[in-house]
Amino acid sequence: MEQLRYERLMIGVGAIATSERAVAITTKYAKERVAFGKPLLDFQNARFKLAQCKTDAQIGRVFIDNCIQRIIAGHLDATTAAMAKYWLTESQCRIVDECVQLHGGYGYMSEYPIAQMWTDSRVQRIYAGTNEIMLEVIGWSL
Ligand SMILES: Cc1cc2nc3c(=O)[nH]c(=O)nc-3n(C[C@H](O)[C@H](O)[C@H](O)COP(=O)(O)OP(=O)(O)OC[C@H]3O[C@@H](n4cnc5c(N)ncnc54)[C@H](O)[C@@H]3O)c2cc1C
Repeated sequence: MEQLRYERLMIGVGAIATSERAVAITTKYAKERVAFGKPLLDFQNARFKLAQCKTDAQIGRVFIDNCIQRIIAGHLDATTAAMAKYWLTESQCRIVDECVQLHGGYGYMSEYPIAQMWTDSRVQRIYAGTNEIMLEVIGWSL
């Protein structure tokens, strides 16, 4: 039980690393992939989706950095660790799913890193205590 905060924080670190990487490789892909005569990134929808993903990843980064400072100082409480595991993994799955969509059919092909990221992201909401259990833990603090 003493180690759960640390484990949940580590899951959050993985979530944010994956989110940032997904945005980076999808931005590169959207600049290279040409559809209807222009790069995907020239379509406003693709640009807006990536802008939302990048913003979410950056907000998550600020939160995880704060959690890391707290655990180093010995102040990371169980509620905040559960919030980190819950929110960052939900955000990771939303971001990676949008990035798969922006890859089109290639997003489903295992040769493309984003496909493996999508598969690996899903379990993040299950292990180390499911996200429903994280909500229970957070709920106890209300
Ligand atoms: C790849 C992988 C690696 C793992 N590694 C480890 C490990 O190293 N060490 C370890 O100890 N465990 C490990 N696990 C186990 C993991 O922690 C559990 O699978 C997870 O906690 C969910 O438990 P469960 O599978 O028994 O699901 P269940 O408890 O059967 O949950 C099924 C569903 O019911 C929901 N649910 C259950 N109880 C409640 C409740 N009270 N309120 C609301 N909803 C509820 C859950 O959220 C879930 O959606 C690993 C699992 C995986 C998939």
